[in-house]
Amino acid sequence: MTARIIDGAALSEQIRAEVAQRAASLTARGITPGLAVVLVGENAASQVYVRNKVKACEKAGMHSVLEQFPASMTEEELLARVNALNEDPSIHGILVQLPLPAHIDAHRVIETIAPEKDVDGFHISNAGLLMTGQPLFRPCTPYGVMKMLESEQVPLRGAEAVIVGASNIVGKPMAMLLLAAGATVTLCNSKTRDLGAQTRRADVLVVATGKAGIVTGDMVKPGAVVIDVGINRGEDGKLCGDVDFASAKLVAGAITPVPGGVGPMTIAMLLVNTIEAAERALAGAAAQ
Ligand code: NDP
Repeated sequence: MTARIIDGAALSEQIRAEVAQRAASLTARGITPGLAVVLVGENAASQVYVRNKVKACEKAGMHSVLEQFPASMTEEELLARVNALNEDPSIHGILVQLPLPAHIDAHRVIETIAPEKDVDGFHISNAGLLMTGQPLFRPCTPYGVMKMLESEQVPLRGAEAVIVGASNIVGKPMAMLLLAAGATVTLCNSKTRDLGAQTRRADVLVVATGKAGIVTGDMVKPGAVVIDVGINRGEDGKLCGDVDFASAKLVAGAITPVPGGVGPMTIAMLLVNTIEAAERALAGAAAQ
């Protein structure tokens, strides 16, 4: 028996079609949802990501702006751009692509984004709202993972969920969303002793480390749902995840592929967050 493959590409198409309908209905009411994507520097992977995000926006009938700046841009200049986008009524969502060049303080930049336009959900107030169970925006990657688990009807209440990787953008918000869904959550990091002992307990295993092949089949509980967030470039030049797909799929009950798993879901959820931001802006304008 091999695992069921969870098709993130197909699910993301469905979600994007729903977003396109909501975008059309907002546009008919006089407000076209708008996303601004800001990229500083020449990071090759980031350039691909931002292009895909902007393309997806346009395909869904949303307005999108790609602002690209050289790596020499100063922090003050970037903060001024973010402030201008905060004030721009045609922009409902702002995303500053990470990583930023080393001379720019990413925290300071993210904290400058207006929380109601912070469609990545990384602003400290949005992180706090998520942690206290009143999310305004769920960070796109963990949100996409939750949608995949929901579409697969994976029971989360009382389930053992183990997350490998504890970053602010994936692992930590993932833990909050799984906890809110009633799972018992274990969050592992690079100092975790005996990683396999943790992962083998997992009914739901989410891996987000950026280390190709860190989780192998012998570290997976038979029948577990394995979600691979990692995106790595293998020695053969092909994309691969953090999970050794060949061995894990022989043990898992369901597993996400890379590519075609979490990646497309992240983009779909960015569109969902942007639509929600635009719908809130419209509701706010109507209330005034
Ligand atoms: P970070 O580098 O910010 O965080 C990596 C995390 O993994 C850290 O918490 C680190 O631990 C932990 N870690 C590293 N090595 C080990 C180890 N040997 N055992 C256990 N934990 C370990 O990465 P991101 O969260 O930003 O990204 C993770 C991966 O997900 C990357 O491949 C990235 O490209 C991908 N990604 C994919 C997305 C998608 O849409 N599919 C979106 C975002 C990211 P410590 O805290 O101790 O340093």
